[in-house]
Parts: sequence; C-alpha cells; structure tokens
Amino acid sequence: MKVISEIREISNTLSRLKSSNNTIGLIPTMGALHKGHISLVEKSIAENDITVVSIFVNPTQFDKQEDLTNYPITIEKDLELLEKSGCDFVFTPKANEIYDNNISSQKFLFDGLEQQMEGKHRAGHFDGVGTIVKKFFLITMPNIAYFGEKDFQQLQIIKKLVELEKLDIKIIGCPIHREEDGLAMSSRNTRLTDQQRKDAPFIYKTLKEAQNKIAKHSFTEINSWVSEQFKKHKTLNLEYFEIAEEDTLKTAIKRENNKKYRAFIAVFADKIRLIDNISL
Ligand code: AMP
Repeated sequence: MKVISEIREISNTLSRLKSSNNTIGLIPTMGALHKGHISLVEKSIAENDITVVSIFVNPTQFDKQEDLTNYPITIEKDLELLEKSGCDFVFTPKANEIYDNNISSQKFLFDGLEQQMEGKHRAGHFDGVGTIVKKFFLITMPNIAYFGEKDFQQLQIIKKLVELEKLDIKIIGCPIHREEDGLAMSSRNTRLTDQQRKDAPFIYKTLKEAQNKIAKHSFTEINSWVSEQFKKHKTLNLEYFEIAEEDTLKTAIKRENNKKYRAFIAVFADKIRLIDNISL
C-alpha cells in the first residue's frame, strides 16, 4: 500500500495504471476509519483492480468550526486498517494544495436535493461536499466510487453531481454498518461519553419502531410519535425526523404507490450530532 499526499503524484500514478487497463475504485473518507468504511473498501477491492482511499477532513463542509476542530484524527490506526484490508493507495492531501490556498466552496444546485434535511440544517454543507468530491473525482478519475447509505442524502447528491458534471464514474451506494446494539457506525461515536454511548442506540430503535408502524399509521402520526419519544428522552435531542421520498428526498405527506420512502433522523447528544436513516 502506498500513501501519497501530492495531487500530481496520485493523479499521474492512477492515470498510468488506468491507461494500462486497470479499473480504479475510490472511497472518499474523512478518516477515523471504522468497519463501515472498511466495508466500502472491501467492496471496491472485490470489484476493481486498484482501490484508492482518500483521507481528508474537508474544512468547507463543516458549518460549525467546533465540529471541525473536534473531528477525530487517527491516521496511524487508519493506515494499519487500510493496509490489512488490501487497499492499494491512500491519498492524504493537504488543505492548502487541494484548495490552492483559497479554502472556499463552489456553489451547486442539485435539483433541490440540497435543500432538504441536512441542507436545511447545515448551511453550505453540500456545497462543501460537492466541491471536494468533484476535486477528488477529477484528480483520481475512478471508474467506480463508493459511498455509504449512512449519508443517504449525500449519496443521492453525488449521483446528481456525476450526472450534472457529465463524469464517467459509476456511483455505488453501500448498506449502513451498525454496532451490535444497532447504533450506526460513525467516526463521531468515539466522542460520545459512556452515558451518551449507552443512550445512542435509542436512535436506531426508534427508527425500527417507526418502520414497524408504517403499515397501520399515517406519516403524520409517525412523525408525532417520534417527536414524543425524544421529548421524553433525557440526553438525546431530536433535530429532525422526516419521512421522505427516496429519489427526490422531498418530505412525504402521504404514501403513494410505486414510490420508495425512507425515514431520516438527526439527533444531538450534547454537541455531538448523529444521523441515521432507514428504508420504509
Ligand atoms: P466519512 O468519513 O464519515 O465522510 O465517511 C466516508 C464514507 O463512508 C461515506 O460515504 C459514508 O457514508 C461512509 N460511511 C460512514 N459510516 C458508515 C457506516 N456506518 N456504514 C456504511 N458506510 C458508512
């Protein structure tokens, strides 16, 4: 496994490999890797000749400076995990080179996908995500890029990005990896206190119960029920719960035939923000 920090080096290396008929799989990450990330890496290894993981804590996608400052960094452990998984290249660029000393985002319109849920609650987040992912795509030119359904809205936005920018890259969504107690794996989980960690599986438990209610209850009833559950909770604060249509991510009021729905949730454990979602 080779670790490369410079844009020109990774770009030249990968374009050489691609021109000798190797397929390239890319997994963009912000590091602090866990089994969820590694499941994406393993899928890429199974489906491509060369697997590249980028590790870059992207400053432009954070709406709160504090969240960026406290984002966990565990680069040595990450490299060990990636080496063990069979990854070929790790791209670890520096912010100044990536942003050419001008750390700011391009503005994007993703057919309204950017205006829903995370877009409403994290100003500029998807401009930051679009900016960095587009840069990484142009630098590495993968055949396939892998994204987790954990960030389902992000996955839909990246699919739209590739369509709008006319990039010849296949986007694959991968299932959410969970801890045994159901909590969706996340780099931010390492910041939870023992008590918060004990409480956090309540998020998935509530999503599962909401899923079970779907046959007998309206979306409005489920929304109110979820909101009540969190009002009663001592340590977890609900930011939003929404049932949305999978393709457009628009809030769903009433179930229609031939449409797929998903429930999305964002919860604060003190200042740590956790998100999850479930197919309905
Ligand atoms: P991050 O490092 O949080 O930006 O995540 C990098 C990629 O890993 C994104 O595509 C995430 O959706 C994906 N990912 C993060 N957590 C999980 C998880 N628990 N299961 C599956 N994919 C995940």
